[in-house]
Amino acid sequence: MSDTTSPFGGFAIDFGAGDAAPLAAVPLAPTTAGPQETSVLILGSGPAGLTAAIYAARANLAPIVLAGYQPGGQLTITTDVENYPGFPDGIQGPELMLRFRQQAERFGTRVVDVEADRVDFSSRPFRAWAGGLEYHAQAVIVATGASAIWLGLASEERLRGHGVSACATCDGFFFRDKVVAVVGGGDTALEEALYLTRFASMVHLLHRRNEFRASKIMQARAESHPGIEIHRGVIVDEVLGEESVTGVRLRDVATGTTTDLPVEGFFLAIGHRPNTAPFEGWLATDEKGYLVVEHETSSRIEGVFIAGDVHDHRYRQAVTAAGDGCRAAIDAERWLEEHGVVETVSATAR
Ligand code: NAP
Repeated sequence: MSDTTSPFGGFAIDFGAGDAAPLAAVPLAPTTAGPQETSVLILGSGPAGLTAAIYAARANLAPIVLAGYQPGGQLTITTDVENYPGFPDGIQGPELMLRFRQQAERFGTRVVDVEADRVDFSSRPFRAWAGGLEYHAQAVIVATGASAIWLGLASEERLRGHGVSACATCDGFFFRDKVVAVVGGGDTALEEALYLTRFASMVHLLHRRNEFRASKIMQARAESHPGIEIHRGVIVDEVLGEESVTGVRLRDVATGTTTDLPVEGFFLAIGHRPNTAPFEGWLATDEKGYLVVEHETSSRIEGVFIAGDVHDHRYRQAVTAAGDGCRAAIDAERWLEEHGVVETVSATAR
């Protein structure tokens, strides 16, 4: 396994050659290759998607996983995972997701490192397009997860990858002995600020309110850490710098006064947005844009199931996503049985 550049400017997991080699690396011939057929198509390769794949594969459904632009999902851009059961000493996020993938592949899952561009859920077989190929499936499990939110400043966009990052655990290493800032007041922001103290000479934590949304224990850790300076009630108006980040312009919410804070790294940690673009018009979303589950893991379209962070903004944990993926696979398997697509009841759901 080696590090490669990810769309966020950090690292992404590289699963190496052999059986697990990304199929997207092979030149594809969109016009000549026919539709790729499967009983179960799984969109997304985080804990939800790959757990669904493990269960579906063990039910002899030979699932295909379209892994998405960040194979392995959000855990591949994190370091220590200490709350996933079964690893008393913790495990690195990329390593955990590699194990998920190997386990899914061991039972016959085909994982393709491509992103689904669009889908057609109007009739069965359901159809999806990704990497220039068309996929046909009798059942679909949507497990596309969520992605980091950006402030939306032009300067932030311009300096992305030049000191601006949405992943401290990917890019923190590059800021050894430098002064950096993290924006946000939730658990992610505090976790990333604490993580950055391993490298940075000083971490400024910028939050727009006085009260933190983060858990009390994380707040206490950040507040007592000598390498973190907390700025409450401030908004980032601009990221400063031409070629790379040299500072941030802060506006005091109460007084409106602005000050420039010199930093060389600027990390976003203000939440996530569910990855739902291909399903627009097909699947229902709630007021926050997350997919709506109608009953158990079923969507509004029979045969299309939903699992993980793409619908769950409450728990957002690897273990809850994995559990959700298991549930969706069992529901899909039962649904396929009911519709005569698979005849024998497997041992999966017991
Ligand atoms: P979050 O809880 O939604 O917090 C987002 C933070 O960003 C909030 O403090 C929010 O400010 C701030 N924010 C949002 N938009 C902003 C903007 N445009 N400008 C400035 N600030 C902005 O997101 P999260 O921290 O990513 O956490 C999401 C969930 O994952 C939570 O349930 C969290 O507990 C969980 N989580 C758990 C762990 C863990 O257990 N180890 C680690 C990370 C995350 P306001 O507070 O003013 O709204």
